[in-house]
Amino acid sequence: MSTDCLFCRIIDGDAPAEKVYEDDDVIAFRDIFPAAPTHCLIIPRKHINTLNDADESDTQVLGKLMLTASRLAKEAGIGESGYRVAMNCNRGAGQSVFHIHLHLLGGRQMKWPPG
Ligand code: IMP
Repeated sequence: MSTDCLFCRIIDGDAPAEKVYEDDDVIAFRDIFPAAPTHCLIIPRKHINTLNDADESDTQVLGKLMLTASRLAKEAGIGESGYRVAMNCNRGAGQSVFHIHLHLLGGRQMKWPPG
C-alpha cells in the first residue's frame, strides 16, 4: 500500500469511487472520465506500479483482472456486442496512475489502432 497512490486510497476507502465489484484480490470502479458508455477500471488490491513490476507471484491476480473484465462486460450487457480491455504501461503508452489497472471499455464502436 502506498499512501501516495490514488488507487490505494480508493481501495482503503480514503478516496471516493463508484465501485462495481470487489473481492479479496481485485476491485473495479467506474472511470471518472469515461471514454465509452461503459468504462470501468479493474485493479489489484496489491500495489504494483506498472506491468513491468509484476512477477510470477502475480500470475493469478493478473488473470483475475481479465476474468473480472469479462464478468463485468457480461453484466453490463456488452459481452456480445463487444468490448475492449487495455492496460497502459508507462507514460509513453498513456499511463497516468501508477497502480496497474485494466480498462474495460464498451457500449460504442471501437476503432483500431487506438491513438
Ligand atoms: P491510465 O491513463 O491508463 O493510467 O488510466 C488512468 C485512468 O484513471 C484514467 O482513465 C482516468 O480517467 C482515471 N481516473 C483518474 N482518477 C480517477 C478517480 O479518482 N476515479 C476513477 N477514475 C480515475
